[in-house]
Amino acid sequence: MKKLIMANWKMQLTIKESLELAKQFTKKIKANNSEVVICPDYSALPFVGSILKSSQLALGAQDAAAFTKGAYTGEVSALNLKTLGVKYVILGHSERREHLHENSAIINDKVKAALENKLIPVLCVGEKLAEREAGQTKEYLKMELQHALKGVKIKTASDLVVAYEPVWAISTNKNAKPIKPEEANEIQKFLKDQTFKILKKQVRVIYGGSADMNNAESFLAQGSIDGLLVGGASLKLNDFPKMIK
Ligand code: PEP
Repeated sequence: MKKLIMANWKMQLTIKESLELAKQFTKKIKANNSEVVICPDYSALPFVGSILKSSQLALGAQDAAAFTKGAYTGEVSALNLKTLGVKYVILGHSERREHLHENSAIINDKVKAALENKLIPVLCVGEKLAEREAGQTKEYLKMELQHALKGVKIKTASDLVVAYEPVWAISTNKNAKPIKPEEANEIQKFLKDQTFKILKKQVRVIYGGSADMNNAESFLAQGSIDGLLVGGASLKLNDFPKMIK
């Protein structure tokens, strides 16, 4: 199966910079053995979408509302994202959980709203350093999955993706360093098994957290790592295409 490689640009670029980087990526990236997804911020989505349209790269969003329509000032509906050509949507990212106080119930509603509108949710789960140091990583991840996927039904295994993002390994966090690929692989296997128990489907599980040009290959060589969610390195003109290669 093709590896899924996702660029999470967060809120790091202006619209102009997003357009420029997207244009360059369409020239530099040959996505033959992988599916590459670019996730710009909301404001850049239509513009980046029109650049990616005639390329091999797909469009992703960094979040979506928990409801399809209604009086939710400032929110962005999965329905409209779908109309803009968005295929994947990152949900439950640790930055949203931490800075925007998103809880499991909200994330659960977002997963359902995304599926209703035929977007593929990329559900982020990950332990913080405290859980890791207390030896509670697996229990914590199991709980995050159970809450976020409560009542969720999917038709096929490709309808949903889980992203394992140990919070302490995300490059913008203090003293971040990537987890060892073998250790990530063991946890990814655990996540695959747990997700199977809940959804009765073997969904893809990708890894995120300080993945870069130097370590991408060793992560992708692991049997239970179906792809990468890339933050910092996806903003680099030469590094991200090299990771895909
Ligand atoms: C992320 O925040 O989703 C992420 C993977 O970031 P980075 O690659 O910069 O650690």
